[in-house]
Amino acid sequence: MENAAVIVAAGRGLRAGLALPKQYATLAGEPVLRRTLRAFLDTPEIDAIRVVIHPDDRALYDAAAAGLGLPDPVPGGATRAESVRHGLESLVAAGPRNVLIHDGARPFVDPATIRAVLAALAHAPAAIPALPVTDTLRRGRDGLSLGAVARDGLYRAQTPQGFHFDAILAAHRAATDGEATDDAALAEAAGLAVALVPGAEDNLKITNPDDLARAERLLAAARLPCVGHGFDVHRFGPGDHVMLCGVRVPHSHGLIGHSDADAGLHAVTDAVLGAIGAGDIGEHFPPSDPRWRGAPSETFLAHALSLAAEAGGRCVHADVTLICERPKIGPHKAAMRARLAAILGLPEARVGVKATTTEGLGFTGRGEGLAAQATATVLLPDLGR
Ligand code: MG
Repeated sequence: MENAAVIVAAGRGLRAGLALPKQYATLAGEPVLRRTLRAFLDTPEIDAIRVVIHPDDRALYDAAAAGLGLPDPVPGGATRAESVRHGLESLVAAGPRNVLIHDGARPFVDPATIRAVLAALAHAPAAIPALPVTDTLRRGRDGLSLGAVARDGLYRAQTPQGFHFDAILAAHRAATDGEATDDAALAEAAGLAVALVPGAEDNLKITNPDDLARAERLLAAARLPCVGHGFDVHRFGPGDHVMLCGVRVPHSHGLIGHSDADAGLHAVTDAVLGAIGAGDIGEHFPPSDPRWRGAPSETFLAHALSLAAEAGGRCVHADVTLICERPKIGPHKAAMRARLAAILGLPEARVGVKATTTEGLGFTGRGEGLAAQATATVLLPDLGR
C-alpha cells in the first residue's frame, strides 16, 4: 500500500460555547469530522483511512461517518501522541509506505495540500504544510508588551503532516516523554528531516465558536443562493378537515387529492425542486402511483430536501402564501410555521406562512378550492457558468 491517512479525532476538550467535542460540532449542516473525512475520501491518492476517536464518542462518530464506508474507528489513548500511535499500529498489517496524520477538526484541507505533502515525501522522510508568519510578533505579559520578536523564518504548522510510515512508527514507539507538541516535533527529535510545503490559509483548525463562525462564512462564500417557486391548487370536497403546511385544520369540507392534498406543502416542495432544477412534484410522485394514495405530504418535501442535499445544497428559507376564503388561516398560522420549520430543519425565523383571500373573486372567492404559492431558497455550490 502506498499512502494511508490517520485522522485524529480523539480529543474531548469542550471549549467555551461548544456543546460537543469540536470535531462533532455541526458545520453547514454536517459534522466537522464528516467534512474532514470526505476531503480524504475524495483524494484518490489516499489508499486507506483510519480514524482515531475517544471510545465514549462512538455514537457521535457513527452518526458523523454514516454511509462513508470506513473501517471501524480506532480507540484513542490518554494523550494525542498515544492516540496517533494507536492509529499507526492499526496500519502495521497494511504496511503503507507513507502516512499522513491529520487533525479531525481541520475540515477544509484541500487535495492540493494533501498532494504537496505526499510529493515531498518522495525526497524527505517527513513533510508538513506551513505558512510563513506575516503578523508582527510580540512577547507580552499581564497586558504589557515586552518587545517585538523577530518573525524571520517563523512558520505556522498545519496538518496533514506526512511521514515515511516505518520511520514515524519507530519514533512513536520509542517516544517516552509522552507529549510532543505534534508529530513533526517527534520526527525531528528522532533525527528525521522535515520538509516544509506551502500550507493553505483556509485550512483552519476548529477550536472555538469563533472558528466555527469563520468556517461557516468560508462555506457561505462558495455558495449561490438559488430561489425556486411553487404553486398548487386543490378543490374542496366532502370531509371534516384540511391539511395545510402539515397541520390538521377542522373545516366543513376536505380537499380532494391523491395524497393528503396539502397544497401548502406541495407548493413548498415544488419551490425546493425548482431551486435545484429537479422538475416538479408530479414527476417525482405521479398521481397514478398507488403508493402515494393518502400519503402525508411531508414525504414529498423530505424527498425534495434529500435531492437538494445530494446536489450539495441546503434549504435555508421558505415562504408560503395560502389563498382561500375559508377555513380561516389566522388561528393556525403559528402552528403551520412551527410545523414547516420542523420539516425543513430550519429556525422559525427562516420560515414564513402567510394567508390572503381574493376578496370573493375567482375560484377561491367562490369557495371551490384553495391555492398556495411558495418560494424556497437553497444554497448551492457555485458551478460557475
Ligand atoms: Mg397538490
